[in-house]
Amino acid sequence: MTDHGHFYAGRDVAGTSGRTGDLFEPATGERLGSVALANAAEVGAATAAATRGFAAWSQVTPTRRARILARFLRLVEERSDSIGTLLAREHGKTLPDAKAEIQRGLEVIEFAIGIPHLLKGTFSDQVATGMDSYAFRQPLGVIAGISPFNFPAMIPMWMFGVAIAAGNCVVLKPSERDPGVPLQLARIMLEAGAPAGVLSVVNGDKQAVDALIADPLVQAISFVGSSAIAESIYASAAAAGKRVQALGGAKNHLIVMPDADLDLAVDNLIGAAYGSAGERCMAVSVAVPVGEETAERLVAALRSRVAALRIGPSLSPEADFGPLISGPHRERVVGFVERAVAAGADLVVDGRGVQVPGHPGGYYLGGCLFDRVTPAMEIWREEVFGPVLSVVRVAGLEEALQLADSHQYGNGVALFTRSGRLARDFVRRVQVGMVGVNVPLPVPLASYSFGGWKRSAYGGFHQHGVEGLNFCTKLKNVMVRWPEEPEGAVFAMPTPG
Ligand code: NAD
Repeated sequence: MTDHGHFYAGRDVAGTSGRTGDLFEPATGERLGSVALANAAEVGAATAAATRGFAAWSQVTPTRRARILARFLRLVEERSDSIGTLLAREHGKTLPDAKAEIQRGLEVIEFAIGIPHLLKGTFSDQVATGMDSYAFRQPLGVIAGISPFNFPAMIPMWMFGVAIAAGNCVVLKPSERDPGVPLQLARIMLEAGAPAGVLSVVNGDKQAVDALIADPLVQAISFVGSSAIAESIYASAAAAGKRVQALGGAKNHLIVMPDADLDLAVDNLIGAAYGSAGERCMAVSVAVPVGEETAERLVAALRSRVAALRIGPSLSPEADFGPLISGPHRERVVGFVERAVAAGADLVVDGRGVQVPGHPGGYYLGGCLFDRVTPAMEIWREEVFGPVLSVVRVAGLEEALQLADSHQYGNGVALFTRSGRLARDFVRRVQVGMVGVNVPLPVPLASYSFGGWKRSAYGGFHQHGVEGLNFCTKLKNVMVRWPEEPEGAVFAMPTPG
C-alpha cells in the first residue's frame, strides 16, 4: 500500500487537509493505497515555495538549466522499467504502452534542452538613426499544470519541460487517479539538480484546482482533460487574469477511401482505436469507409480482428490492451454501448462479456465494434473514451469531410488513400487541428505543437514546440540609443528617421 502525499519545497510533504482519495489497481480492482487531496492552504504553501524557487531559477543561465534537464532525461531513461511498471499498475495500460508514453514525454525534454537556441531573441540594427531594437522572451513565474489520468508521464512533461527550461517554476496538479509517476518525476528533477521549488506536485481534486486558479502567485494555467472542465477552467482562470491553455476531449475520424491499401488501414485502425483501451485523446473512435464496397470489406476485416483482440492485465506481455481506469468509467462506457444498441446501431462485436482469468475484479471491457452508426446517435456525438469503434458509412469524400467538420470536437483526423491530390485537398480544407495522411494517430513530435480546434482546445496556445515556449514566456521589446547631446522635447509621435 502506498499513501501518496505532495512534493513541494524540495521534499515529500504529507497531506494535512484530512481529505484523501482511494487508489485502485485497474487490473485487479484491489486497493493500492491513497492519495492526499490538498486544500487551499497546502496549495498556497506549494505556490509560495515555487515563487521563492523562481527568484533564483529565473537567474540561472539557460545552458545550466539545459544541463539539469539533460540529467533528468538520463535518469528517467535509466529508470524507465520501474517508472513504466508503476505507470502500468496505476493506470492499467500495458507496459510497452507505458514505456512508449514515457518516451514521448522525454522527447519534449529533448526539445527543451535546446532552450539556449530557443531563447535567442531578435535584433535589428539601426531601426532609427543611432537606434537599435531587440526583443526577447522572459519566463512568466509560477505556472500550474493540471493533467488528466490517461497520460500521467507524457502530459506532465509537456507541461513542465519547456516551462522549466525557460526559467519558470511549475506546480503540477496531476490526476488523483494515478499520481505516482508525477511524484516520481518531481523527485527525479530535484535529484537531477533543479533547486527546490522548480517542480512541485500538489495532489487533489476540484478544491486544489480552484485554489490554483484563485492564487495570485500563479501566473498561468496549463490544463489538459475533458472539454466541460477545460471550458470552465478557461473561463475562470481568464477571469482571474491568468494566461490559459486548456485542451479538451475528442472524437477522431479515420476515413478510408476506396483506393486505400485496406490491410494497412485495418492494421492502423485496430491499434489506434483499441490501443490503451481507447483511453487516448487521439484514439480513433469513428471509422468512415467511403462507398458501400469499401464499407463491406472494412467491416468484414474488422469483425475478425476486433473479436481476436487480447485483453489482459497491464503487466501481461500477451495483452493488446488492459483494463479501463475505474469501475465507474467502465460502467459509463458500457452505458454508451447499451444506448447505441437501443438507438439502432449494429453491434458487430460485443466485448461486454470479456473475462480475464484470475482477475475477476479488474475493470475489463473487450473491444466493441458498431456498424451503421449515424450522426444522430449519441455514440457518434459524444466522446466515449473506451475500446469502442463506430463505423459511419458515407457515399463520398465530401460527406466524410462534412462529417468530421460538423463534430463539436476537432482534435485529430486521418485519411487513408493512395491519391496525393485528394489528400492535399483534404488536408487544406478539414477543420481539425491535427491531420494524418496514412498516419492514424497524428500526434506531432516535440518540435511541433500539440492541440486541436473547436471544443478540443481553448485559449489559442497549443502544447510544446514553439507554441509551448510562447505560452510560458512573455515578449519584451527594447529600443536603445546613445545620443551625443541634448535634443530638446519632441511632442509629435516619434517616427524613425
Ligand atoms: P478530467 O477532465 O476528468 O480531469 C482532468 C483534470 O481536471 C484532473 O487533474 C482532475 O483532477 C481535474 N478535474 C476534474 N474535475 C474537475 C472540476 N470539476 N474542476 C476542476 N478540476 C477538475 O479528465 P480525465 O478523465 O482525467 O481525462 C480524460 C479526458 O482528457 C478525456 O476527455 C480526454 O480526451 C482528455 N484529454 C485530452 C487531451 C488533449 O490533448 N486534448 C489529452 C489527454 C486527455
